[in-house]
Parts: sequence; structure tokens; C-alpha cells
Amino acid sequence: MAAFVVYSLAFTVLPSLYPTAPLIDRLMAASACAFLFLLSILGHELGHAFLAKRHDIHVDGISLWILGGVAKLSRQAQTPKAEFEIALAGPLASLIIGLTFSGAALVARSQDIVGPGPAVVAWLGIVNVLIAASNLLPASPLDGGRILTAAIWMRNGDAEAARLHSARSGLVAGLALIVAGVSATIVFKQPLRPWISALVMGMFLLGAARTEVIGAAIRRRFNHTDIESITSFHPTAVPGSTPVDRFATWAGIDHQHIAHPVVHWGHEPVGYLTPALGATLSPAERSWTSVAQLAVPSDVVPRAWNTESVDVVLQRMETSYPLAVIHRVQDNQILGTVSQAQIHQLMTSPDWWGRLPDIEPTSKPDFHPVGS
Ligand SMILES: [Zn+2]
Repeated sequence: MAAFVVYSLAFTVLPSLYPTAPLIDRLMAASACAFLFLLSILGHELGHAFLAKRHDIHVDGISLWILGGVAKLSRQAQTPKAEFEIALAGPLASLIIGLTFSGAALVARSQDIVGPGPAVVAWLGIVNVLIAASNLLPASPLDGGRILTAAIWMRNGDAEAARLHSARSGLVAGLALIVAGVSATIVFKQPLRPWISALVMGMFLLGAARTEVIGAAIRRRFNHTDIESITSFHPTAVPGSTPVDRFATWAGIDHQHIAHPVVHWGHEPVGYLTPALGATLSPAERSWTSVAQLAVPSDVVPRAWNTESVDVVLQRMETSYPLAVIHRVQDNQILGTVSQAQIHQLMTSPDWWGRLPDIEPTSKPDFHPVGS
């Protein structure tokens, strides 16, 4: 980006504004301008970061790249107000920077100071105002899209539904920019050059909005699905001495991801495991390892209530636990189990518009106990 700015300034913008300046002056002014341009982008991102901090969101860092910058926030905003303020802070910072440069350019003009320096300052003034304006386009992941998210969120109270809507507006805006660029140059035979930025911006928006659509659709499903709808109810208890390979064969290919309690002589479960857990062992190890040796000990397995949403349970399963045990809220009875793989089934990619396939009803295992 910086090299592009130097090139376009030194050979296009500055010669037209200040034709008599020697090349070395133009190159120096252009380099200074590229540096100030990067600082301007940094200022925009610092605007986001400053407001994020005020809303207790940690900023992991700021990266600058070819199409602008990104302030990496540790988590999403928790309220529509925070979403709105963090989003608006960036364009607001760009606007202030732009107006400052424009003011400086006007002062230089009134003092009759001419040359590449004032031209650079004027260019930075215009570009920063343009950055503020283009970022306010109501299309995620642009700042305007985040503002749209905050508005929808405020109305319907559903953060992820709001994020899905503004990600869709990002898809539409990206597609519109590409269609405009292609039809202008191919159908209406306009020169390509002024449309290149529309095409690049359109493709960037389309790709980034697609990522946002997937994220919002899946997070929304996690928020709206209670864990009971993917629970395997009352899976058969397996005697602790059963060899892992026998357990896997017994479960069959289709039920490799259902977590079973492991018991010794009908007592309380000593642990839980899925047949798939044994897949990392060699065939020989599978024949001499017992399910009790491989099982996740009962006291460290995460527990969840059947009415909890999947995202809440997932936060507890973040550690490498392959499964959770589900209790019924009313009487604290063990209702069944859920494995990581069963949760991963919810993460099937949505279609382009963010619609997800229906969840398949949970299969209730009807295996016969080992040895019977
Ligand atoms: Zn921004």
C-alpha cells in the first residue's frame, strides 16, 4: 500500500498539482505522505481500540495491511451501545485527521505557501475524509456494517441475528461493487483504471462478508440450541474391563461419537468415553487396553444442565475434554452425554445467505450391553 501511495503521488497526483517540482522533491514528498497515510490508518484503528478498551475489551494488537488496518479485539461487544461506539470511533478518528490536514492545507494556501508539501497535506485531508465516508457504508465488516448491527441488535435484542443481517448487507454491497465495476468497463466500455478500486473493494467485501455470515450463523445456532437437542440419552454403561477394540466394534461405525459411561460391577460411572477415543491407539494397543484405562475420569468430565445453550456448555468444554455429561435441571439425574463431535455437527457451513441445514434428531442408542 505504502509503495502504491508513493508511486501514485510521485507520478500522478503531484505532477498534476505541482508540475515544476523536481523528481527528487516529488519522491521525498510522496514518501513522507505514504508514512503519514499509514499513520492516519493507525489513527483510525486506535480510535476503535480506544473505545474497545473503554468497554473493557482487550486489544490484542493492530495490524496494517493493503486495504487498511484491523484492531484485533479479544472478544465481541457485549451490548449494542458498545458495538456502536467502537464502530463509530474509527471513522470519527479519520474524519478528525482529515479535517486537521484540510485545515492545514487551507492555512498554507492563505499564506501562499506552495509546493509538494502543501499538496501532500491537502491530499491527506481529502483521503482521510474519504476513508471515514467509505467505512460508513452499512455493510459488514465495514464500520457502517457494525453500526447497522448495533441498530438491529437494539431493536430485536439478538446480537448474532443482527450480525447475520449486516453480514448479508456486506454480501450485497460487495456484489453490487463488482457488478458496477464489470458492467462499467465491459458493457459501457469505460476505462478500467478508475474502476479497479471498486472491483478490489467489492471482492474484499464479498470474501470478508462471507466469513462473517458463516461465523454469525454458527454462533447464532450455538446460542439458540439447547444442549438437550444434541444429547445422547441414557447411553449404555460399559464394564470397565472391556477391551477398547471390542467396545468400538460393538458400537459400530455410526455410533463412534456417542459417549458411554464406564462402570465397575454396576456402580457409579468411573469415567466416560466414546469409541472414537481409541482411534489413536495401534490395533495391538486397542486389544489390550481396557475402556477403564482410556476413559476420561468421571470427576473431571464437564457437567451441564439440559436447558443450557450449546455456547454456554462449549465454554466449559474449551479444554480438551472430548465430552460432557448432561444433567436434568429438575432432579439432577444424569440424562445422557454429549461429545465434541456431536457439537461439531452443528458447525456445518451455512449456504451463501447464512441458512443452516436442520439439526438431525439425536439418535438414542439402543445397543445391547457388552457380552449379552
Ligand atoms: Zn474501522
